[in-house]
Amino acid sequence: MSRRLELGISYMCQLYVLAAFLVPLLVAWFPAASFSGQTSDPQALLAVGDYVSRSRAPLRVHAWRGSVAAAGIDSILASRHQAFAVLCNLLEVTPPDSVNLIFYPDEPTKFTQTGHRGLGWGVGTTVIEVLNDSIQVDSYHELAHIALYQIGLLPAMWDEGFAVYVSALLGADALRNFGYPGGRIDDSLRDHLAGGEPYAWCELAALEDIGDATDVLLAYLQSASLVGFVAEEYGDESLRDVLRNAAKRSPRDALERSNEALLSSVGRSGLDVWTLWRSRLDRASDRLPTK
Ligand SMILES: [Zn+2]
Repeated sequence: MSRRLELGISYMCQLYVLAAFLVPLLVAWFPAASFSGQTSDPQALLAVGDYVSRSRAPLRVHAWRGSVAAAGIDSILASRHQAFAVLCNLLEVTPPDSVNLIFYPDEPTKFTQTGHRGLGWGVGTTVIEVLNDSIQVDSYHELAHIALYQIGLLPAMWDEGFAVYVSALLGADALRNFGYPGGRIDDSLRDHLAGGEPYAWCELAALEDIGDATDVLLAYLQSASLVGFVAEEYGDESLRDVLRNAAKRSPRDALERSNEALLSSVGRSGLDVWTLWRSRLDRASDRLPTK
């Protein structure tokens, strides 16, 4: 469980989607690997690099001096601070004491400093990203995870679905790194399905880790669509209630937790909600928010 917490917010940026598209190329371009360790500790990173920093509690933004992020650090701090406040209010959680956001101008610099490959990395309450004129990871996805973790650890469907859904709600291009830049969630899901079948409720809700899915992109898109459906069909208060109940440690099984959360929060079984969601997906209109 603690390993899940440590790795949880790294799922999207670190691995399955960005890595599938970009990391192999970056690794091929920059094969030098003199760094032997890996750290996301802000104090360790700040001690050896040259950063511009700005703070507004609880956020601390650190940008590699001379980078695009350094030039725009005030606006980065302002937009993310506002987004994090919205996220914490939406979830009715108390923010952690501090959240560190560290920006690098490119992947080689990020790798040299952190020992971690990829364009983004989230661990605990630290988010590490590459930001330049052509690369920008989802601005709010990792912050959504951090806010959500103040409730507790959730099954992958709720955890990743909420992060994608709410990031789109906040105005980020939440599907850009999934191969659907500017895409609406339901439209992109339908496009990805191409007439095929989505995951059955018992498959999606049972995922302990989004990376366990055989079609990771489908799992992200369908999870976001389902979370959006719950929010729009039953309201924010019900979504909060579902998330709180799904975060409970007992039962441990993700499918049971998801079923019980929906039953106690909206009075319907998971399969009932999935069936209602499916019929909405099949309709032409798409009421989910996009950027
Ligand atoms: Zn994620």
